Amino acid sequence: MPLFIKSDCSNCMTKHLSFRVREYENWESIKVAFFAFCEMCQSASLIVIVGEYDSQIDTRFRRLHEMDSVSGEVLREWDGAYIANQYPEFPRPETPEHLPNDVAAALLDAERCFAEGLFNPAATFYGKAIERAIKPLLGDNPPKMLGPMLGRLEESGLLPDPMIDWIRLIKESRNLATHDDADFQCRGDVEPARDFTLMLLRYLFTMPEEVRIARQGLGS
Ligand SMILES: [Zn+2]
Repeated sequence: MPLFIKSDCSNCMTKHLSFRVREYENWESIKVAFFAFCEMCQSASLIVIVGEYDSQIDTRFRRLHEMDSVSGEVLREWDGAYIANQYPEFPRPETPEHLPNDVAAALLDAERCFAEGLFNPAATFYGKAIERAIKPLLGDNPPKMLGPMLGRLEESGLLPDPMIDWIRLIKESRNLATHDDADFQCRGDVEPARDFTLMLLRYLFTMPEEVRIARQGLGS
């Protein structure tokens, strides 16, 4: 009889669903690590439960499956056991420092969507954050759409080619996310775009301000 554990999935972000346990192992004195697969997206997770490991563990665990045992809540039936850690970890919304307000607003929308598993809107809002970030680089009368903005940005030589290529990819993912022909269903579908967006915003806004503040501190 297969073992199941209920938790939230940190890959597809579905709440409160069953993970099918493949392996489990005593880990440190009172921790048990469960290697399990999400029944929704089939991704693997490592779920660490603090609780006594003993010969009754299979029985205890079958009882857990019956229970309402979401992440972080105490699993009372198993001597106060609870989920202590889960890997991959759940993402926390990030906003790099010193962003202009309009860029921060679009990024925060993207980050909230990403953390909630709304991956199509997240892809759209990362594109919006980038659009708002690069518009001021383009001088007077910047184009309104990201496509023509990219052409202007390329001519300006302000950003290295790999960055411009990445922005083009973000633009394409945003188009895919808003049309019928594709879906972003899992964290891994959007995570590369997220990583690039956060990096670009740090490069454009956080780093120059940090340098300015550091220079001020040095009195130069
Ligand atoms: Zn999942």
